[in-house]
Amino acid sequence: MSPVVRAELVVDLDAVRANVAHLREVVAPAEVMVVVKADGYGHGMVEVARAARAAGASWLGVAVAEEALALRAAGDTGPLLCWLAVPGEDYAPALAADVVVTASTVDQVAAVASAARSLGRTAGLQLKVDTGLSRSGATAADWPGLVAAARAAEEAGDVEVVGVWSHFACSDEPEHPANDAQEAAFRAALEVATAAGLRPRWRHLANSAAALLRPSSRFDLVRCGLASYGLSPAPEVRDAAGFGLRPAMTARATLALVKDVPAGAGVSYGHTWTAREDTRVGLVPVGYGDGVPRAASSRAEVLAGGVRARVAGRICMDQLVVDLGAGTAATAGDEVLLWGDGSHGEPTAQDWAEACGTISYEIVTRVGGRFARRHR
Ligand code: PLP
Repeated sequence: MSPVVRAELVVDLDAVRANVAHLREVVAPAEVMVVVKADGYGHGMVEVARAARAAGASWLGVAVAEEALALRAAGDTGPLLCWLAVPGEDYAPALAADVVVTASTVDQVAAVASAARSLGRTAGLQLKVDTGLSRSGATAADWPGLVAAARAAEEAGDVEVVGVWSHFACSDEPEHPANDAQEAAFRAALEVATAAGLRPRWRHLANSAAALLRPSSRFDLVRCGLASYGLSPAPEVRDAAGFGLRPAMTARATLALVKDVPAGAGVSYGHTWTAREDTRVGLVPVGYGDGVPRAASSRAEVLAGGVRARVAGRICMDQLVVDLGAGTAATAGDEVLLWGDGSHGEPTAQDWAEACGTISYEIVTRVGGRFARRHR
């Protein structure tokens, strides 16, 4: 007998491979960077990275150096971009591991160049321009100075500028005027870089939504996170299948207990939910301590014993209650699907996101805690 699993996240790496292969086809001749930061959006960074490389991802992208170094420690050797650093950060470990880093400021170029010199090597560098997200990246006013500093560091042999990139603010709203403005600003920034003598092989701007919905923004490379995991990056195509994508993560648990409650019974803390009629409730042994969002209390649904059941009352730290209905055939020990690809009638992470007023990114990235995780 296989051991009983209280709660687990099952990650379908075939789905990741299929999604990445599909994205490559859609965006060709541009190439695909798969974004694997934040533990592969909760799917397991190392496993997803291997699947992505096997499916032909040209690059992997992470936020911080620790993530990049963990990938190298796990044996990844391909092109790898890292984009977040703090003042005083030592770039040497990342550069020694052949990680390409990002600079948004002249000070960052200097820090990268100095780390490269200390290692006696030339650092792979990408420059980030702020085209309107107002997050990282050099503003239009600071861009010529950043380009000049990078060019000087190139001439000194300390760095090679292999990329210039930026990030959209509103790509999930294709009609938003900021998209045109950002793309135009990016083209202008590229002209400044070229005029200064930079020859970046990789020019990139698009995340998943832009990669799928805005062909003009694909340039040499697109950076796909969400779409690689099979989730729709834009509300206008709510169902990922409409983009040819398949959700990779299933969150499942075993129904711990089933019992009758009479009409009028309050369920869970605060009695925010009361049984309108005699019903049966089921106990699902996961809660907000496992990253199941409490905001989904009384809103989200699960598939329990093959039927849809809504969360009844507040989601607790370790458990939640679902209303199975009086006539249910569900019994303790049955499988509960919180979310998955929808093929068995279960909700998707997108459904959970809508139930609690957030985005699917947050649902899959935050889930964890005491869920076991299995890749298949
Ligand atoms: N590029 C950068 C800089 C990001 O921060 C992210 C994720 O937030 C991505 C690309 C991937 O975005 P998406 O998951 O929407 O494809």
